[in-house]
Formats: sequence, C-alpha cells, structure tokens
Amino acid sequence: MRIYISVDMEGISGVTRWEDVIPSGIDYAQARRWMTDDVNAAIAGARRGGATEFVVEENHGAEMLCVLDLDRIDPDATVIRGMPRGQATTSVALAPGAPPFDGMFLIGHHAMAGQAVGICAHTIYFPHYRRVLCNGRPLGEPEMFVQMAAEQHTPTALIAGDDVVCATVAALCPGVQTAVVKRALTNTAGWIVPPARARPIITAAAERAVVELAAGSIPTSSRRGPYEFEIELHEPIPTERLAMIADHHPEFSVDGEPGDARTVRFRTETMHHGFRCAAIVRYVADLGRVPTY
Ligand SMILES: [Zn+2]
Repeated sequence: MRIYISVDMEGISGVTRWEDVIPSGIDYAQARRWMTDDVNAAIAGARRGGATEFVVEENHGAEMLCVLDLDRIDPDATVIRGMPRGQATTSVALAPGAPPFDGMFLIGHHAMAGQAVGICAHTIYFPHYRRVLCNGRPLGEPEMFVQMAAEQHTPTALIAGDDVVCATVAALCPGVQTAVVKRALTNTAGWIVPPARARPIITAAAERAVVELAAGSIPTSSRRGPYEFEIELHEPIPTERLAMIADHHPEFSVDGEPGDARTVRFRTETMHHGFRCAAIVRYVADLGRVPTY
C-alpha cells in the first residue's frame, strides 16, 4: 500500500505561533524536529497497519520548502522538497498522470484564512490573502489537497493538526481518521500536549487509517469542478498592474475600482489547476516576494 503524506508546519505538535515556523524564530530548529517526528509517527503507524511505501511532500514555504530534518526522517520514506517542482509547487506527487496512491495523510496542516480560532490560520499566503472562496464558500488548503487527491482517485485517510483543522477535514471526508495534537485558543495560542505525547496519538490514528483503507471503508471525495475561485486580498492591487493583468492574464478578472481592487476571480475545471492558479495570484498581482507559509 502506497501512502502520500503532505506535511506542513503550522499544525505540527508543539507549534503555536508564527515565530515557530519562520527561520528567524528561536524555536524554529526545534519545530523542524517536531515536524520530522510527527511525520515519522505517521509512518510508524501506517507501517504497523500494513503500508509499505511512503512519499512525503514538503508544503511549508520556508527555506524553499526544505524544512524536514533528513537525518531524522524514517529511512523508508522518500521526500519531495525544494522549489520549483515543475508542477504545482507543493503537490507534484498528486499531478495528473502521477502514479496513484492508496491514501493521503495530511500532517501539520492548519485552519484556513478568516478563521478566528485555529493556530496560524491562513490560506496559501499569509501576508496578502485575506480569504479564499470557492463556489461561494471559504476554502482552505486541506480541502484543496482533499480535492486534488480525489482527482487522482485517492481518499484522504488521516488529518493531524489542531482541533479546528481536524474538525474541518472530518466534516469533508467521512471515514477520515483524526489526530488532534493541540487545541487552538486563538490564531496564536493553544492548549498543547507535549510533542512526545502527541506522537502516539498520530501513530494510532495512522494505523487505524491504513486498516480502514485496506477495508475499503474510507471513500474518495466525489465532489468535482468546475470551481469558481475568489481570492480576497488585504491590500489593493497596484493600479499600474491592472492593465497588465487584463492584457496578459485573461484567465484572471479583478473586482474593484482602480486603487481599491482587492478581489481576483478565476474559474477552473480541476482543483489541481485551481490550486496552481491560486498560488500565482500573488505574483500576478505583484504583491511582492516574501516567504509563503
Ligand atoms: Zn506552512
């Protein structure tokens, strides 16, 4: 059984605030180890349940998406890291035509932009994306992954993160196993169990996930496109940029008067394409190159 593991950092056990997930933070090196150990905990449980192959794809936008400690990672894993990846930057293993997986684990994923409670809640790009809507409702990164995996006939079997993201994914994915490793109090505070206690929770949930996958009791999401995206930005798009977008990016339309244009819309048939489009809006809108999260 092949398992795809998408790993982000904000939902890792122990991580509580933005400084934990940026290289200048005093606990960043420690948080990298927590992140690696949470992944290892998931692999250990999956292996116990009968899985044999583990592809880990890094999804945290610091240091060119190279955050895991490779000296600590379970040697049975292969790791996709660095950027660009010649495809969707953080989901290349879910690209159309890629070898299929039997199940997907989301480790360290986080609540979506606009959620008042949820540790380090954001969607794709913390500094500039106020909210991402899809078909009229707020959309977060975990749902994008759920849908991208579904397009490759892969069910979402495990979510590990805070109570908010686990509840969100559980509502989307019947049968998904949840590993709640912390309780969010706000966007930057939580009621935390030590990472050493969180890891057995992840291992147990991962084992259950693989057993349930083998039994065929975790369905693949049946939702499909088209998807109407709206990306609401915190700041207006520079006025001089609007004509460039109209001329060169007809796939994107911009709402709002010059000087106060803050919403970018586009439509896609697949979530895989939608995720890629959503990720480049910040460049198209010329909002500057600062680290993603
Ligand atoms: Zn991240």
